[in-house]
Amino acid sequence: LWFCLCRSEFCIRNSDDSQDCRQQVAGEELSKYSREKNDEWTVLRGKVLSAFEDYKECSAKNCSCHSGVIVNDLSNFKNGITPQMIKAAESKGTKYQIINHRLYRAKACMFPARCAGVEHFLFKMKSKLPDTEFILNTRDWPQISRYHNQLQPVFSFSKTHEYYDILYPAWSFWEGGPAIKLYPTGLGRWDRHRESLKEASDAWDWEKKSDVAFFRGSRTTEERDPLILLSREEPSLVDAAYTKNQAWKSNADTLNVPPAAEVALEDHCRFKYLFNFRGVAASFRLKHLFLCKSLVFHVGEEWFEFFYPALKPWVHYVPVKSGATKEEIKHLLTFVKNNDDIARKIAEEGYTFIWNHLQMKDVTCYWRKLLRRYSKLLTYKPSLDEKLMEVKHTN
Ligand code: UDP
Repeated sequence: LWFCLCRSEFCIRNSDDSQDCRQQVAGEELSKYSREKNDEWTVLRGKVLSAFEDYKECSAKNCSCHSGVIVNDLSNFKNGITPQMIKAAESKGTKYQIINHRLYRAKACMFPARCAGVEHFLFKMKSKLPDTEFILNTRDWPQISRYHNQLQPVFSFSKTHEYYDILYPAWSFWEGGPAIKLYPTGLGRWDRHRESLKEASDAWDWEKKSDVAFFRGSRTTEERDPLILLSREEPSLVDAAYTKNQAWKSNADTLNVPPAAEVALEDHCRFKYLFNFRGVAASFRLKHLFLCKSLVFHVGEEWFEFFYPALKPWVHYVPVKSGATKEEIKHLLTFVKNNDDIARKIAEEGYTFIWNHLQMKDVTCYWRKLLRRYSKLLTYKPSLDEKLMEVKHTN
């Protein structure tokens, strides 16, 4: 036995007998492990072990596993949000107000389905919110660079640490996500996807899944190329191909081969290893992958949505560095293939976290908490902007 780390029911081990492993550590510190054998995977196993040792499971029943993001985003505005700051931010998004528990919005929204996706949540909670106003950016890209802009409060769905934008839960939890052939009205309805993905993951339990890494998506970034090329060289290791998106013009846009057919998210569950890459900004794909109970390979850590920071590398997913080469990807895949118990454990942790802490009620709860805390920072009491229209119902 070269290592044995147990945490409650779980032992990461290199022994056929997990009972032995549990008995061996019984009565000892749970985090104590012995290493008697070194092999080429010692370093990566060590990373998994340290990640689990450092990880404190979030047991909150409300959305407070994600509260740190709100605290962090709003800390930039601790000196208050003035009417002048809102005015300056107006060109960066769509203005919303809640006045007397009614919801108002600027008449023009650049992406109406995205506004509708957001309004689904705002409309429900308006009776529980104080008078407030905010600027909501529906573009993919965040707006307020730490280096090029003055501090302004703009809500965006994803960002990097280079931006002051305040994260809000993406419209696509309800509607307005990318429209592909499979999802012609746009990827959305996270509530329905949760159920259908759970069903698919139950049908494809770990033993049944194909021992192959999988990806389908369009070439929104070249960062995806090494995985696609690795798949072309080693199809028994990786099944990854580019699909068409609306910008597709020729095979050059799918790395010189015809586009592959799209694959439904539920059908991703047939594979043990699923890849996520950033797109133009963060990709909506990530949350779905976890619910397959497959092992998620998350490439790059630059772009994030509000729920990403609660997910921990080597506990919930396998981190892959941005710009990883074919060889680096292959090394990680070989590691998980040779350490199936670790792979399965991380896959289960990822699934459990998203299933428990990214429910629709967590999304609603995040919005409510965000708006309550944000509103306290307004240095004035907002009054109705007559240019806005009332949102009287939502889908
Ligand atoms: N998608 C899918 N099946 C496919 C291709 C894409 O379900 O065969 C989904 C994918 O999960 C993502 C969305 O469609 O949420 C858009 O994917 P794409 O790769 O085109 O864009 P990006 O990930 O950059 O947003």
